[in-house]
Amino acid sequence: MDAGLVSGDELGPAKIIQIHEPSVGLQAVLVVDNVAAGPSIGGVRISPDVTLAECRRLARAMTLKNAAAGLRHGGGKAVIRADPKMPKKDKERLIRVLACALKDVREYILGPDMGTDEECMAWVHDEIGRAVALPREVGGIPLDEIGATGWGLRHAAEIAADHCGFGLSGARIVVQGFGAVGRHAARFLVAEGAVVVAVADTGGAIHDAEGLDVEALIALKAEGRSVTDSVNGALRLNGDGLIDVPCEIWLPAARPDVIREDNACRLNAKIVLSGANIAATREAESILAQRGVLCVPDFIANAGGVICAAMEYAGATEAGALQAIEEKLRRNTRRVLETAREEGLLPRDAAVRMATERIKRAMSYRRWSLF
Ligand code: NAD
Repeated sequence: MDAGLVSGDELGPAKIIQIHEPSVGLQAVLVVDNVAAGPSIGGVRISPDVTLAECRRLARAMTLKNAAAGLRHGGGKAVIRADPKMPKKDKERLIRVLACALKDVREYILGPDMGTDEECMAWVHDEIGRAVALPREVGGIPLDEIGATGWGLRHAAEIAADHCGFGLSGARIVVQGFGAVGRHAARFLVAEGAVVVAVADTGGAIHDAEGLDVEALIALKAEGRSVTDSVNGALRLNGDGLIDVPCEIWLPAARPDVIREDNACRLNAKIVLSGANIAATREAESILAQRGVLCVPDFIANAGGVICAAMEYAGATEAGALQAIEEKLRRNTRRVLETAREEGLLPRDAAVRMATERIKRAMSYRRWSLF
């Protein structure tokens, strides 16, 4: 075989397309990982140092996430090598050119990711009519505005808490990251009687064992300020002090790899509920399992956003999308946690197995995997 060919595994990738348009300086790659369940959905990432390897990993993550959520979609990802902070007119040109280049690649539906947003998806929609997470004005369900991922996390939290023998009422929550995911998760959990005792953003972290005023913090963030500007009886935490705050649920909603081998033993929680992708390393998840801390895997817990996008694509209403998120998150979280307990597996391994089985079953119904 030609040594230049990229090797895959039993699931994918089905297709890799490199897009080069020198006239506008567009350098991009699309990885369509698996389409057995239906056309792939995955975000378009703009970053100056993205690689094909990263794109493949992200596309596979979407295959697993979409399968685990029981969606009629496979996984894919597109990356544009560029500075996401470029002037808007330059970004619009790159996105429109990318959309045109992918016009006939019907097995990929474009969505937002780091460096792109709903406005970018509106440009894609305008060019080729095949994008998700669109603005409301063109028939979209603005998933970050309504808190689709936070809504899913709230339901995963309830199932996980029940699994651990406690309820959400009075449960202490720590939230790292107070953006689209973290602030909505906090809001929905407080509505169930939970108490947010610590939060962090890039400005730092604050702690109040009596509970923080989440609505006040949301208002502060809306003004472009940091959660640390509130203080009001709260204690400012130094460095990575957020990890030591005693709580029932520790909810990462910011960066990858925040819980690692070197700090997993400090975590004073019953549950880690991953809003952010790969918030805990595999070693950290093993250490936490040995310590009796339950980790709900990211691609199960944070699937609310992609479920919302898939429901939008299917023409559902906002209420229908929220209902689908609730049903899917509750069912899948319960199933993964029960399987993990019964078979002595890490929840992540149980989740990957469940998703892989679904993908293989979908593949078995097809003559070929490619469209
Ligand atoms: P966002 O940019 O809206 O918010 C990120 C928040 O994290 C901000 O408040 C920022 O200040 C904070 N932050 C960044 N670095 C931090 C640090 N080192 N310590 C503490 N806080 C820090 O992003 P988002 O859309 O909320 O996404 C958060 C994470 O969830 C990302 O990993 C993203 O990939 C993942 N995710 C998002 C969605 C979604 O629907 N938006 C869905 C699935 C997964």
